[in-house]
Amino acid sequence: MIFSGIVKTSLIDYPGKIAAVLFTPGCNYNCFYCHNRHLIDDFPDIIPTDEIDHFLQKRVGLLDGIVISGGEPTLHEGLIPYLKKLKSLGYLTKVDTNGSRPEVIQALVEIRVVDYFAIDYKAPKARYHEIARGESNPEDVLATIDILLKNRCSFEVRTTVVPQLSLTDLILMSEEMPQVPRYVLNAYKAPSFFLSSDQSLIDEPAYSEKTISEFAETLKLYQPHVVLMF
Ligand code: SF4
Repeated sequence: MIFSGIVKTSLIDYPGKIAAVLFTPGCNYNCFYCHNRHLIDDFPDIIPTDEIDHFLQKRVGLLDGIVISGGEPTLHEGLIPYLKKLKSLGYLTKVDTNGSRPEVIQALVEIRVVDYFAIDYKAPKARYHEIARGESNPEDVLATIDILLKNRCSFEVRTTVVPQLSLTDLILMSEEMPQVPRYVLNAYKAPSFFLSSDQSLIDEPAYSEKTISEFAETLKLYQPHVVLMF
């Protein structure tokens, strides 16, 4: 398992827990608003494995959990053994995923090495590829959500409320998904680094917190457990 980034202490990436976040390189999507574009480039930096191992050993008992984020963690063959290792150290584990590999999620669920999942649902089905691009397919994401619901896993679904999504889009998305235990609406913030061809998308003004709060009130009719992250 290789990692290209680390946040050593976070209070916001694992609900209710103090966690470190490890970022895997590479992604099969290409969202224009990606804040981790340096991770999805062709040649991201790699952190030496012994440095991470040393950090993990040292923080046992100080951190509640470890979040594996990305990039897209489920693209890495070493994910399952790595999660087993984290569990053997006594950590809670969380995996952030774009939901594109339901077969990997099924395997993770069967061996019970993940305590919490966060899945992105990025756009209504009809506009999914326009927003997430790459190999994105909403049916894979919905299959992933289905697996987590059927197996009574702890998880949340997240949507970044980019300016290109209307309230109608958000309602459609809330209807396309089954009811989920926690639906997080993330406010959009323009990334510092982006493809020059995406300049016009990036330049669209973000929704205000007030507008997103109003959207949330409407979405609660479809997904009662909406949470706002500004
Ligand atoms: S799925 Fe996540 S990591 Fe991949 S391109 Fe989109 S925002 Fe970036």
